[in-house]
Amino acid sequence: MKIIFLGAPGAGKGTQAEIIAGRLGIPTISTGAIIREALKNGTEMGIKAKKFIEAGELVPDDVVIGIIKERLAKSDCQNGFILDGFPRTVPQAEALDSMGIELDRVVSIEVPDEVIVERMSGRRVCAKCGATYHTVYNPSSDGVNCDKCKVELTIRKDDAPEVVKSRLEVYHSTTEPLKEFYSKKGSLKLVDGVGSVDEISYRTIKVLEV
Ligand code: AMP
Repeated sequence: MKIIFLGAPGAGKGTQAEIIAGRLGIPTISTGAIIREALKNGTEMGIKAKKFIEAGELVPDDVVIGIIKERLAKSDCQNGFILDGFPRTVPQAEALDSMGIELDRVVSIEVPDEVIVERMSGRRVCAKCGATYHTVYNPSSDGVNCDKCKVELTIRKDDAPEVVKSRLEVYHSTTEPLKEFYSKKGSLKLVDGVGSVDEISYRTIKVLEV
C-alpha cells in the first residue's frame, strides 16, 4: 500500500501517518523529519536546508526529491509506505510519477487555518525520536517528557507564530494545488481533520479502507 498524506502544517499528518503505518506494518517517511535529523547532525544537506526551514519556506525541490529517491530505494519500502510531507509541490509530485511509483491512496487532512494556529502553539516534540505531542489534545503521560525516550519535550523553532503564518501561506499557494493534481487522477480522499486523534484516525481508516 502506497499512501500520501496531504494537509497543512499541523493538520495531523504525522500523527495519523504513524497510526496507519503501525496498523499496516509499513514505514512512514517524513521529509521534514529527515531534514531535521540532517540539521541536528550538521550534514551538508542539513546546512543547506536550515535557512529555508527556519523561515517557514520550502526546501528546494531537487534537495527533497533526492532525499525521497534515496529513502524509497531502501528495502523496508518494498511492501509500501506512507509519505508524510512529500510531495509539497507539483514538480515533486511529477518526480514521484517519473519514478514509476503508483499510489494507492492520497488523503488530505482538512483543518481550517484558525485551528492550525491554535494547535501549533501547543505542539511539543521529542528531539530524540521525533514523536509529537500537544499540551492539551495529546499530552505525554507526565506532560513534560517523551513517553518513549524520557527526554524533555521541546518546541519546534518553525512552530513560532510568525513562522506558522508563512508556512500556511506556502501551503495554500504551493501545496494545496496538489489536491487538484490528485483529484484529476481520481485518487484523492478528504478527511475532516478537526476532532480528537482517535476520531480522525477512525475517519482516516474508513476512507483508506484498511
Ligand atoms: P514538516 O515537518 O513536514 O512540517 O516539515 C518541516 C519543514 O521541512 C518544512 O516547513 C520545509 O521547510 C521542509 N520540508 C519538509 N518536507 C518538504 C518538502 N516535501 N518540500 C520542501 N520542503 C520540505
